[in-house]
Amino acid sequence: MKGIPMTTLSLPMKRWVFAGLLTAFSGTLTARVTPDFYEGETNPDLPGPGQVLQYPLGDRAARHHEAVAYLQVLDSLSGRVRLMDIGQTLEGRPLLVCFVSSEENIQNLETIRRNMELLADPRKSPTGAELESLVAGTPVIAWMMYNVHGNELSGTDAALQLVYQLAAGKDERILEILRNVVVAVDPSQNPDGRERCLAQIQQWSGLLTVPDVQSIQHQGTWPSGRTNHYLFDMNRDWFVLSQPETRARVHELVRWNPQLVVDAHEMGSFSTYFFNPPRKPINPLVHSSIRNWWKAFSRDQAQSFDEYGWSYYTNEDFDDWYPGYGSSWPYFSGAISILYEQARTAGSRVRLPAGSLLTFREAVHRQFVSSLANLTTAAKNREALLRDFIQMRRDALNPPQGSIQAYYVLPDDNPSRVLHLMNLLAAQGVEVYRTTEPVTLKNLTGYRDRQPVTRELPRGCFVVPTAQPRRPLIETLMAFDLRLDNDFLKEERESLEKGEGTRMYEVAAWSLPLAYAVECYASRSRVPASLERVEDSKRQDDWTESEKTYGFLVDFQDDIGLHVLLALMETEYAVRVAEKAFSIGGRYYPPGTLLLRGHENPDNLASDLKTISRETGAFIRGVSTALCDSGPDLGSGHYRLLTRSRPALLTGPEISTSEFGAFWYLMDHELRYPHTILTVSGLGRADLRPYNVIILPSARGLDKQVLEKLKKWVENGGTLVAVGRSAALLAEKETGMSRVVLRSQVLNQLSEYQAALEQERAIGRFPIDSLAIWEGSGSVFKGVESAEEKKGPSAEEDRYNQRFMPRGSFVKAVVNREHWLTFGMPERLPVLAATSTVFLAKSPVEVPVRFAEAESLRLSGLLWPEARTRLALSAAVTRERLGQGQIILIANDPFFRASTRGTLRLLTNAVFLGPGLGARQPVGW
Ligand SMILES: [Zn+2]
Repeated sequence: MKGIPMTTLSLPMKRWVFAGLLTAFSGTLTARVTPDFYEGETNPDLPGPGQVLQYPLGDRAARHHEAVAYLQVLDSLSGRVRLMDIGQTLEGRPLLVCFVSSEENIQNLETIRRNMELLADPRKSPTGAELESLVAGTPVIAWMMYNVHGNELSGTDAALQLVYQLAAGKDERILEILRNVVVAVDPSQNPDGRERCLAQIQQWSGLLTVPDVQSIQHQGTWPSGRTNHYLFDMNRDWFVLSQPETRARVHELVRWNPQLVVDAHEMGSFSTYFFNPPRKPINPLVHSSIRNWWKAFSRDQAQSFDEYGWSYYTNEDFDDWYPGYGSSWPYFSGAISILYEQARTAGSRVRLPAGSLLTFREAVHRQFVSSLANLTTAAKNREALLRDFIQMRRDALNPPQGSIQAYYVLPDDNPSRVLHLMNLLAAQGVEVYRTTEPVTLKNLTGYRDRQPVTRELPRGCFVVPTAQPRRPLIETLMAFDLRLDNDFLKEERESLEKGEGTRMYEVAAWSLPLAYAVECYASRSRVPASLERVEDSKRQDDWTESEKTYGFLVDFQDDIGLHVLLALMETEYAVRVAEKAFSIGGRYYPPGTLLLRGHENPDNLASDLKTISRETGAFIRGVSTALCDSGPDLGSGHYRLLTRSRPALLTGPEISTSEFGAFWYLMDHELRYPHTILTVSGLGRADLRPYNVIILPSARGLDKQVLEKLKKWVENGGTLVAVGRSAALLAEKETGMSRVVLRSQVLNQLSEYQAALEQERAIGRFPIDSLAIWEGSGSVFKGVESAEEKKGPSAEEDRYNQRFMPRGSFVKAVVNREHWLTFGMPERLPVLAATSTVFLAKSPVEVPVRFAEAESLRLSGLLWPEARTRLALSAAVTRERLGQGQIILIANDPFFRASTRGTLRLLTNAVFLGPGLGARQPVGW
């Protein structure tokens, strides 16, 4: 995509170029000598970045097309450079990796890659003298990545200088790097975000460059360039692989097996420069060898900065506990990864508190010096790095006795979701297998039952053995409950008690089996022999048509059922959904099964469904009668007619970018279902009648008028789905829109809600004793006893307890499977909880999903006792009627970073079943 040529702003550009001369205007700006990026002889035939960009590098941030053009020039002129296209952004910009090394290495690039593949897999690598010669002749691979957050600009420009220096340099330091290292430079990990940021800077730049960090020139507007097109933070997406940019990147890293990975960022303008080692907590699956190398790399890096007298720090602020960062994911495949954080200058310059100016050029220079320092360390330690890498991969192949030997994932519950998970692992270089015959295994542990169980695993059960070169990756992604060490817990607890906030940079839990809510077991026993390797698997279609057809039944347990429903909704088929379980033709169908009656649909129904089944692999059965073996017959009113969903999704600066982004991506990219995006600020003017569902992601706050308008719309038959903080806003006393309440606002009425809960839990438990009922004798059922009058905590105590809220831990929720909001969900559901808000509800509000009791609440991640007590038995999801419509509140983000597919069903059921099942629709005529 072509950008607006910057030459159209020639006047301000010139002013920036000569900014250093404007001392009279800039007041305290003192003339400091700007050091060259590098001192050393270079090849005069290769143009420096400034010659192609037509301005001195670092005067401003290069546009993506300018960076691409410069790298293309070097690619065409230098035998040390090879530019590779690895994919495309969502907005169609090229994703590039620029390989730089000695001419010889560049000529042998594919051989080096293959040799590295051999070294990376000790099962395939040679031994003895052959291995020694491979080690002697193979350069290390360093993967240098910049600008994943599009508004952290300096990295890309530093990458241009780095490629130039390596391509043109003639001095021994550069030549040593070229001989020993294949440098792969990913100059811009997020071109769409960078371009969004640069367009904003261009928009808000005038004749003067204001060095005030608060100015819009520096801050930009919403949405910022940090995220990609769908507003995803791609520095959290590394193991979720939801975005094409991440998928392309991980694909290359899996192919190349680098020993060093660098991820260069920017942070607040008033900071200095950060590089690894990271602060605690350190993920226990990071190999000790990597921890040692951090020290070696940081020593050299510090020395390079000391030469310039620059400030920097290590071991603070940034931890790598979460494996979804560019600086953490590579650890688990045996790479030393290093995070850089440079103080932000937004492409120009900022006034620092001490009075001096920090310029963009200085920021670029620091990123460049850091990169070169790390590459020098890598070059000097080529052999040791390779040997340690090989050793880490060997260690990975030998899980200690008594440790987990394999994860088993049963496909029964939700075959397409399980396949999604298996393909996700395979895309990260994990080997996935399947059992070729039934096998009985003892002492299996699951996350649902902590007690070991014995299970017969069917043929076709997925197996992920841990004895693989990427064992740490498997263990960090699949472990049910990775635990923080006591030293860190003590530190964290104290910090919270003092009111200084959490020491965790990120969520505490991410376990994929829990996020996907699939049935998974860990086993410490030997892996059975009867396995076959599975590569990118697809589902087979599951289609049966009966001779004489009354109608068709479509499975809605499996996630693919939703895709079938949406295809049918879009073509205006009359789709019904079973409220109750039934059996027909000797087969059991759970609630939620879709029914298409022949007489309610067009004649081409059968052929359309056949096509859908072939394309999706969905389970579809033709039935010749409406008479069921058990449960309501197919002509019963318990098969409710669905209404086509016409959703609107709210967005704007008030709305959580990550929640909105994930929902937008879901509707647009995954489901491809027509939807309207409305801004909260434009809601006052909007005509809401075209929509029957409105999705409201977490909002910082909502105007009274907006709430009033939404309320009227709900009363007229709308389905309002509010998530997280928006759910809390609707439940607040002051808003009064929902009958759900916030626990913190009813502390003196807790016993009332406890009594209502007892009533709810007593449903169906009444012991039918005919003597007691008819004769008044026999056992006496005491009825529902009102809960003990227990004084709730004071408001101050409650506020204190809120400090210990979960920050992204999996907790157990109990699902009412008869409620339409939970169709297709397991009875016990892991919910990623990340809020101090606790919701309470009583009849007539329905609570289809409720958090479990305190003792069994925690599944994975840190959950302090205060949080357990507050959260236990509270409402996770509520549904209530309002006028002709309904309000659905979901306490926690159900599609966190596009990874929690287990809870996603709550959102999709609300959006696509809601208009037909919970809201009253008029009958047209
Ligand atoms: Zn960043």
